[in-house]
Amino acid sequence: MTKGQRAKGKGHSTSATYHLPSTTYQLTIVHLYPREMNIYGDTGNRLVLQKRAEWRGIDVQIKLVGVGDPIPDEADIIVGGGGQDAGQGKIQDDLQEKAETLHQMAEAGVVMLMICGMYQLFGRSFTTHEGEVIQGIGVLPLETVGGHKRMIGNTIYQTPFGEIVGYENHSGVTKLDNPAMAFGTVVKGSGNNGQDGTEGCRIQNVFGTYSHGPVLVKNPAFSDELLRLALSRRYGDAKLKSLDNTMELSAHAIASERPR
Ligand code: GLN
Repeated sequence: MTKGQRAKGKGHSTSATYHLPSTTYQLTIVHLYPREMNIYGDTGNRLVLQKRAEWRGIDVQIKLVGVGDPIPDEADIIVGGGGQDAGQGKIQDDLQEKAETLHQMAEAGVVMLMICGMYQLFGRSFTTHEGEVIQGIGVLPLETVGGHKRMIGNTIYQTPFGEIVGYENHSGVTKLDNPAMAFGTVVKGSGNNGQDGTEGCRIQNVFGTYSHGPVLVKNPAFSDELLRLALSRRYGDAKLKSLDNTMELSAHAIASERPR
């Protein structure tokens, strides 16, 4: 489907009041560890942000940042995916080298979306099932310990951007220092720990969640909020043109009916 068809569509819209004729706006999306940390379709989050920006005429630069690569100063949005414990082990030293930069960027309001394995490492530490401690960078106030039970299946949770549907697969049990910093409240699934009803974490513009999927495909209001936050930071109070979300909301509805 072309940009024109999408922008003109009259289907369900999550952003009907948005209006911004913006051919000159630019966004740089950084994908952190696309090789090592990318399972259950998490690369799709980068693609969703890119396409939803381009359909509004925004110029998007994509930067893939692996082990040994610097994080570009111009990053507006940084996305990171999930990975096995082994993948987390492979990137841990490099992530420590990037820690100061990521802290500074988080404080400066750069938008970040970290899924599962990267979400855990944006906390202070992840202690594996075998007792190995993988250091995190502590951008998010949380710790994770590998449990004996795998929390797996489709999830639903409530957030300030509406209901989000996702898919989780983790044994890590995550505890937030303060449950009020959760990104959402669990409706279906385990979320952070299967105990306190919290899912994910949000500090400033840094979002962490256990939702794979890729989560942004089925949750367009959340995708647009990430774009809006990034554009507002760079250009002031940005508003986005509405898009036809018929397919995305249909995927959302079907996924939300799926059994756990
Ligand atoms: N290894 C982590 C866990 O099982 C993260 C898994 C993932 O990213 N899906 O808790």
